[in-house]
Amino acid sequence: MEDFEFVSPTHFVFGKDAEEKVGEKIRAAGAQRVLIHFGGKSALASGLISRVRASLSQVGIACIELGGVRPNPEIGLVREGVRLCKQEQIDWIVAVGGGSVIDSAKAIALGALSDIDSWEFYETKQAPSEVLPLAVVLTIPAAGSEASSNTVISNDELGRKTGYGHISLRPRFSFMNPELTFTLPPYQTAAGITDMYSHLLERFFDDMGSVPVTDNLSLSLMKTIRAEAPRVMADPEDYDARANIMWAGMLCHQGLAGVGRHEDWATHGLEHELSALNPQITHGAGLAVLFPSWMEYVFEENPARFIQYGREIFGLVSTGDDWSDAYNAIDATRSFFASLGMPTTLEELDVHEEDIDTMLVTLEKNRGAVFGSFKKLTINDAREIYRLVL
Ligand code: NAP
Ligand code: FE
Repeated sequence: MEDFEFVSPTHFVFGKDAEEKVGEKIRAAGAQRVLIHFGGKSALASGLISRVRASLSQVGIACIELGGVRPNPEIGLVREGVRLCKQEQIDWIVAVGGGSVIDSAKAIALGALSDIDSWEFYETKQAPSEVLPLAVVLTIPAAGSEASSNTVISNDELGRKTGYGHISLRPRFSFMNPELTFTLPPYQTAAGITDMYSHLLERFFDDMGSVPVTDNLSLSLMKTIRAEAPRVMADPEDYDARANIMWAGMLCHQGLAGVGRHEDWATHGLEHELSALNPQITHGAGLAVLFPSWMEYVFEENPARFIQYGREIFGLVSTGDDWSDAYNAIDATRSFFASLGMPTTLEELDVHEEDIDTMLVTLEKNRGAVFGSFKKLTINDAREIYRLVL
């Protein structure tokens, strides 16, 4: 097991009506002037923003609002948020939404107390000296940003989408009410499930041997997701299934499922290029296409790891041939994503051979010439992985 440090200071408030406690909790933590940050329309339409606003005003917290975060959030709105925070002397941010809203809020938190433009942090990876504290009201289980130290932002002008991480960005509070996820369109539910499951795959498949305490946690989360996913897809208002998926999404990405391991993250890197190319592409849908392709391309490095995964998660029985067994585990993964309604080819995402070179240029800028852990990949390897699923 590798050495590690792990700090996860997020205070979770989980269950029905969790969002009604936002005001009381953050007031006690010192909030006085809040920016409520949210997405396109779902949180406004459901009345959630009004309820959060009421919870804040009941305890005397002043608030201003900035909505309009799009999926695959963009730096332009972040800059507007930074300007608002400075002008209104905001001291806390409340993000109401999913990964896109939370990541945008984190980017605002980075710039609000600094003279440095938020994008610079993504570009240079420098540590911030001070950030605004953040609370989250989660509406879609997927990215795990409700407890992670990470944020991913697009810059349309530069044609890039890239991540940044710092411990100070872990939200102080996460309010998680599974009922808020009942209204999710099936495609978003499925993409969210694919994303959280992928966060485990990125950690489980690296260049290390086993780390049983970490691996068994990951495997247990994978099993839970596999069991609960069909239940939420069949009945979007199944509270317990939604609750299990929501909590699993957080556990998949707050870090515990990777401690002591190297982790890989090549597939997320490959996916970010799809959604940089076309912001209409949903992150989880891109991962559903690319993960099986990455697996096919790399499994020969360590077929035993795939065999273990196939046995534990899909109950696969040995055929006596290691390569067939590894292949069966990859096929089972592809079928799992497809069973949720996720795509299996780039064509379904309207990405074609002629787009690959564009993606490779920015991939190299974001990831360098060699990246990944399970197998060290070059830009040429990346080209082959895209090609396998055209
Ligand atoms: P999202 O982009 O935040 O939301 C996806 C869609 O779901 C939006 O159109 C949103 O519509 C809708 N929606 C959200 N909650 C809803 C609800 N309760 N009812 C109905 N519709 C709802 O989804 P996400 O998958 O959580 O976030 C994706 C982003 O996170 C990507 O940019 C990805 O790269 C990033 N990511 C970040 C990390 C990290 O560690 N920070 C990890 C993985 C992925 P409205 O806009 O109308 O609300
Ligand atoms: Fe992700």
